[in-house]
Amino acid sequence: MPPRSEPEPARPILEAVGVSRSYRRGQETVQAVRDVSLAVVPGEMTLILGPSGGGKSTLLHLLGGMDRPTSGEVRSEGVAVSRLPAEALAAFRRQKIGFVFQSFYLLPHLSALDNVAMPLLLDNVPAPRRRQRAAQMLEQVGLGGRANFFPGQLSGGEAQRVAIARALAADPPILIADEPTGDLDSVSGRQVMELLAELAHRERRAVVVVTHNEAFVPLADRVFRIRDGQVMGPEAGVPMAAVAAERIRSGPRPVGALIGLALKAAWRRPSRSILTGLGVAVGIAAMVLLVSVGAGLSQRVTQSILSEGPLTTIFVSPQASSGGVGSLFSGGATTGPVHPISQATIARLASLPGAAGAWAQVNMIGHAGNSGRQSFLVVTALPPKRLWPDQVAPSLIAGHLPTASGQAVVTKSVGQAMFPTLAHPASWIGKQLTLAVSASTGSGGSGFSPLSGPALAPRPVVITGVLSAGLGSAQVSIPYSQAVAWFDSGAAKGVLPTYPEAVVVAKSAAMVGALSSRITKLGFGVTAMSSIVTQVQSAFSTVEVGLGVVGGIALVVAGLMIAVVMAMAVLERRREIGVLRALGSTTSDVFFLFLTEATIVGLGGGAVGVLVGWGLGRLGEKLLAQPGLFLVQPALVLLGLGLGTVVALVAGAIPAGRAAGLNPVEALRQD
Ligand code: ADP
Repeated sequence: MPPRSEPEPARPILEAVGVSRSYRRGQETVQAVRDVSLAVVPGEMTLILGPSGGGKSTLLHLLGGMDRPTSGEVRSEGVAVSRLPAEALAAFRRQKIGFVFQSFYLLPHLSALDNVAMPLLLDNVPAPRRRQRAAQMLEQVGLGGRANFFPGQLSGGEAQRVAIARALAADPPILIADEPTGDLDSVSGRQVMELLAELAHRERRAVVVVTHNEAFVPLADRVFRIRDGQVMGPEAGVPMAAVAAERIRSGPRPVGALIGLALKAAWRRPSRSILTGLGVAVGIAAMVLLVSVGAGLSQRVTQSILSEGPLTTIFVSPQASSGGVGSLFSGGATTGPVHPISQATIARLASLPGAAGAWAQVNMIGHAGNSGRQSFLVVTALPPKRLWPDQVAPSLIAGHLPTASGQAVVTKSVGQAMFPTLAHPASWIGKQLTLAVSASTGSGGSGFSPLSGPALAPRPVVITGVLSAGLGSAQVSIPYSQAVAWFDSGAAKGVLPTYPEAVVVAKSAAMVGALSSRITKLGFGVTAMSSIVTQVQSAFSTVEVGLGVVGGIALVVAGLMIAVVMAMAVLERRREIGVLRALGSTTSDVFFLFLTEATIVGLGGGAVGVLVGWGLGRLGEKLLAQPGLFLVQPALVLLGLGLGTVVALVAGAIPAGRAAGLNPVEALRQD
């Protein structure tokens, strides 16, 4: 022991002034510490001795700012420690106190080096600096070679020396040790006590050690004996100077380092984290899959509706209808007088204000023929090109749309029936067919009536393209004017030809409403394409929401799983939480740490879920040979990730709150 000069007594760095602490236990009040006054001085090793249950630990917790006295005050260098607000009290522990516990309380998932660096992490010291300092401290306690060992790989004496290095890391002026030799054999116990004494004498720290071992008395500079909560000792009852309420600053919180710590903790039990994350993943994947299949179907149906004409299309029927989605879905009940749709009607509709043009719906039934082969089919009119913008024009798998009369596009089944030797649709382009129509839809709109007259005669057409839609159906589409001419020539002699339906195209979407009501006033039935699309889409949105809810239920279950797992983790990790608090982390640090852990699991699960949902969708499309069946929108990906996070945050909040709310002294109590 180095010689010390006595004459000028050092000023106390930590003082208890008339401190009492009582606990309520049922009806009783237990006085754990009664009216204790004592001072701790830098450069001295102070021993607190006494029998078990005498109040030693309680006093130590009060001195270390882990607990607040029921009455009296703990002071340090002019600061009323016991009256500091919680955040500042945590900062006081971080900066002024180094704790050493009986059972070391090293964090098992961190290396010796990372354990030692923990107080620096909590004090927001940059990583390289804290690793350097931690290595230096390990060197100082003689464990330079054990930096990368985990606590489970250390002997008791080594573990306690790592714990002392940790207590020294933030260079606190005060070291507080609670039965530091209690779990050690006598040789290592002695070494630890000698190390503590050396830290007091050589580095002039104030070292306070609780022990019940009288053998260590000779190492101490000052001894207090405590029994039944009362102190008997040389310096009991030292009068104290007045206290200035200077604040302890608490620095910015180590957000990045805490996230790193949360990652490590999540990784500590990989299978548990992965299983929990998988719960979220299943929920998100189900949601992504179900919602995207809904969106895919909705898009398909919308596209097939729009192939009937642009969004500015208005379908006009001869009779006012009482509502419903209209002729496309074989509509609602019709009422009122019938207004036959003739060419004059078409011209009138086309000239209405707001109308870009109009055409008649013309559908006929007929036969195609080629070298003796005959095929029954539907002949439709391609609407006038001017009124049929590219985005709604029928798509072709080969060739182009007709540009003159005498040309036609066919579906694949017509080509296959007519040219059985030519496998490839492209090879049908330029080939000739004969077309003969035999029936057409009349002005009533439903049912076909047989045609008479010249339309019956077979006429040649040249194939210019093959339609990609209507793969199974036999259909030929010819230019509008030609279709109308055939239709008209099929009408009975002396009868004005009338059409089942007219199609009016508005100049813009904004004009659809006004134009529709003008047409209604003329006594026709009106259905706007936009309202059909809106109705279909809203029907599908309902389906999508329903499907999303099914996925959502899976998510709620996943959330409950996270909550349960986190709650278990908090129970299991009480001690870790206590240690973090003793090392000076604030309640919000602990809350943030646990919430981050939950979020990592949720976000990871969300990411996996989105990927799996997307992958399964792609796989489904391949297996069913239905490209575009699953429509995964970018918003859905974000929603999936966001929901995973939100579920985790909600599920993690209560357990994290419980973790943060744990009383550090209770959390550390041996059980
Ligand atoms: P020591 O460390 O000397 O063994 P403690 O400070 O742990 O003594 O305890 C002193 C007394 O206070 C004991 O009677 C103990 O039962 C009581 N005590 C300590 N903590 C609590 C608590 N949280 N609730 C109730 N009683 C407590």
